[in-house]
Amino acid sequence: MTESVAASRNITLRCPLCLTLNRLDLAAAGRPVCGKCERPILVDRPIRVEGEDLDRVVADAEVPVLVDFYADWCGPCKMMAPVLDEIARERAGEIIVAKLDTDRSPDVARRFEIQGVPTLIVFREGQPVARQTGALARPAIEAMLES
Ligand SMILES: [Zn+2]
Repeated sequence: MTESVAASRNITLRCPLCLTLNRLDLAAAGRPVCGKCERPILVDRPIRVEGEDLDRVVADAEVPVLVDFYADWCGPCKMMAPVLDEIARERAGEIIVAKLDTDRSPDVARRFEIQGVPTLIVFREGQPVARQTGALARPAIEAMLES
């Protein structure tokens, strides 16, 4: 016999202010706040992730995580940034958009074999399920999220 359970959408994110790792349920009512400093964790915009935090975020995320591997000097990355802001805002609670600065986290970039920026990777249940290099328009990014 099956029973329907209210689906949780848990994700682990680091509070950008006090740096505590938080397990948040994006399906819960209200804005997620940090369990330690109680300040809001803004999940309606791209979240900066560094180093091995990326592994923690994607490993047990119950929502798709779209990661933008970018660099500050990269023109196409800047061009695509407003699109990612828009997706993060409009799909808040359903997905997480994360940004990883490949210059600040070169080991991670190497591990994911990032050859050029921007590279977008969609992770589901810890696994990369879609990957594209180069700036994309919103429909192409949405298509990746359906993977
Ligand atoms: Zn905090």
